[in-house]
Amino acid sequence: MAIPLTTAEKQIRKDNAKRVTEMRKAAKETNTEYYKVRKAIEREKNARMRTVRGRTKARRTRDRLRAEVFAHYGGKCTCCGETRTEFLSIDHKDNDGAAHRKEIGETAHHLYAWAKKNGYPDRLQILCFNCNFTYGKLGYCPHMIEAGLISRNDAEHLRQNREVVRMVMHRRIEV
Ligand SMILES: [Zn+2]
Ligand SMILES: [Zn+2]
Repeated sequence: MAIPLTTAEKQIRKDNAKRVTEMRKAAKETNTEYYKVRKAIEREKNARMRTVRGRTKARRTRDRLRAEVFAHYGGKCTCCGETRTEFLSIDHKDNDGAAHRKEIGETAHHLYAWAKKNGYPDRLQILCFNCNFTYGKLGYCPHMIEAGLISRNDAEHLRQNREVVRMVMHRRIEV
C-alpha cells in the first residue's frame, strides 16, 4: 500500500512540476526560430501530402528505399530463393522483430530506413511471406526438409521447441 505523502513531500512535488513547466517554456522561447522553421516544414509537408503528386512522389521515395534495401540483402528469399519482390519481406533472424519495431517505429518503411542508416546489419535477412510465416508459426519451413537440411523428425522437434531453435535454423540456412 502506498504511504501517504507528507505536506513537505507534496510541496516538493508541486515545486518540481512547476520547475519542469517553466523549463519547457524557457526552452520554447529560446528555440523560437527552431520551432518556427520546424512548423513551417511540417505545414509544407502536410500541404504536399494533400496533393496526388505529393503522395505519388512520397510513394516513389519509399519504393526506391525498399528496392535499395532488398538489393543489399541479396534480393531473394534466404530459404526458397523466391525473387519476385512482391513476395519478399525483411525478417529478423533472431526473432526480435516486435521489440525492434517498438524501438524504431512500426512500419516496414521505418525498418528499411533503419537498415540503410545502420549499414545493413546482419541481423536482418530476406524471407518470402510463405517462408517467413511458416518459420514464425512452426519454427521451420518445409523447404528445409526438401533440401535435406533437416529430417521430418527434426521438423517435429522444432515445432515443439521453436522459440529456442529458430535462431539456429536461420544460421543453418545460411551455410
Ligand atoms: Zn521463401
Ligand atoms: Zn522456405
